[in-house]
Amino acid sequence: MPRETVKAKATRLKKIIAALDRTYPKAHCELNHADPLQLLIATILSAQCTDKRVNIVTKELFKKYRSAADYAAAPLAELEQAIKSTGFFRNKARNIQTCCRKLVERYAGKVPHTMEELTQLDGVGRKTANVVLGNAFGINVGVVVDTHVSRLSQRLGLTKQKTPEKIEPELMALVPQKQWTLFSHWLIWHGRRRCAARKPDCLNCEIKKLCPRIGVKIAGKNIEHRTLNTEPRTSNLPIGREAAFGVQRSMLDVGCSAPLHPWLLLQSGLCPPAFNMALDEALLESMPRLGRPVLRFYGWTEPAATFGYFQKYADVERATRLRPLIRRPTGGGIVPHDADWTYSLIFPPGHEWHSLKAEESYRRVHEWIRAAFAKLKVATTLAPNAHKTGPGQCFAGHEKFDLLWHGRKIAGAAQRRNKLGLLIQGSVQSRCIGISLARMDWQKAMCAVGCIEFGAEWSDFTPDETLRERAEFLARQKYSQPAFIRKC
Ligand code: SF4
Repeated sequence: MPRETVKAKATRLKKIIAALDRTYPKAHCELNHADPLQLLIATILSAQCTDKRVNIVTKELFKKYRSAADYAAAPLAELEQAIKSTGFFRNKARNIQTCCRKLVERYAGKVPHTMEELTQLDGVGRKTANVVLGNAFGINVGVVVDTHVSRLSQRLGLTKQKTPEKIEPELMALVPQKQWTLFSHWLIWHGRRRCAARKPDCLNCEIKKLCPRIGVKIAGKNIEHRTLNTEPRTSNLPIGREAAFGVQRSMLDVGCSAPLHPWLLLQSGLCPPAFNMALDEALLESMPRLGRPVLRFYGWTEPAATFGYFQKYADVERATRLRPLIRRPTGGGIVPHDADWTYSLIFPPGHEWHSLKAEESYRRVHEWIRAAFAKLKVATTLAPNAHKTGPGQCFAGHEKFDLLWHGRKIAGAAQRRNKLGLLIQGSVQSRCIGISLARMDWQKAMCAVGCIEFGAEWSDFTPDETLRERAEFLARQKYSQPAFIRKC
């Protein structure tokens, strides 16, 4: 975006505010509440959860617990159960209870109305306090900076800051104080209805003429079906200015400047075959609790073959000499694990990938791997259609959107999608590639592409005790059991 004077930015912002006010004259807090206490509880529950889900949960919760004293006196396990589906329920229940005990002890059960008092309550940070003060008391002491406000204020060129702590004071300096609460509603409403993280509807946007679209990589194009581009940059324009100047580029060639979303990276090393399958299933089960995608890289303590959940054991036994044979939690055919690189992707319910059609998530994951190989200078392609040669064998012939190297399938995957989330289990038959590559380089390339293409902000992930115990249980009681392995 060309350098903009303070005065020009203020004028532009005034027009943005007027247009958003016209577009969303009824913008308001979308967390259902009837009083300050209900709003406080709903806002605590809304961390890492959608307003829609919170409203479903609070419908019953608010009938059962009517005062701070009710929450304070509730058995913790009962409260946890009541809010379980909002995720992180143990922490949230503990915070709600401790917060409400303080409300009873210090404020006779009432919610205080100063920033200082609110932020001393458990589970209440500046953002939650801003929500309560602005919406329950009509007091404008700050701007709520959630994921939408953060994304939109950057795209609109109102701030270059990346963290809520730094974005908020910049917005407070730009927006008239009496509009602070409404301003965040307008951005949140616009973010939900028009300016989505992955597919902003710039063509129909009510403020498109006022928006430099900072960081929007493919302006006005449907990015859902784009092909990732790993060609080097050819423009000398600074990143972000390209979109403003109408240069349409893929996200991959502009570095990792996508809006960032927390993703977890699990390097689980070499594990026994049954445990590998068990851990993937345990991860899928824990998705509602973890609430964010996990990319897992792993290996095998011994050669093995896995086969699809619905495959007949007798057919599998005949088709491969590899042992042990382990039934997978996902579909698909036989996969040899004697020299492959294996990975899993697990997405929580409500995540964009979870709602994709199976064919699209399959295409997307292989496009991701293709882009990672391209970064390593290995040219691969996605199969435009299926070519079958042997029944039930994953790497004999290929399916549509499998990854091919010189016409030969080198990567395939199997999926399971249920109400807990989406599990994708994939294998890259690296030895089939005619040049030697280090597995670690491929994993690094996968992470880099994930960051650039999907805005993944990686954090190392170590499974907690609950997850480990569940995986060990499943390994013992399910994936090692002949009754399951030979069930059909
Ligand atoms: S023009 Fe595009 S990026 Fe800008 S606010 Fe509208 S939808 Fe968002």
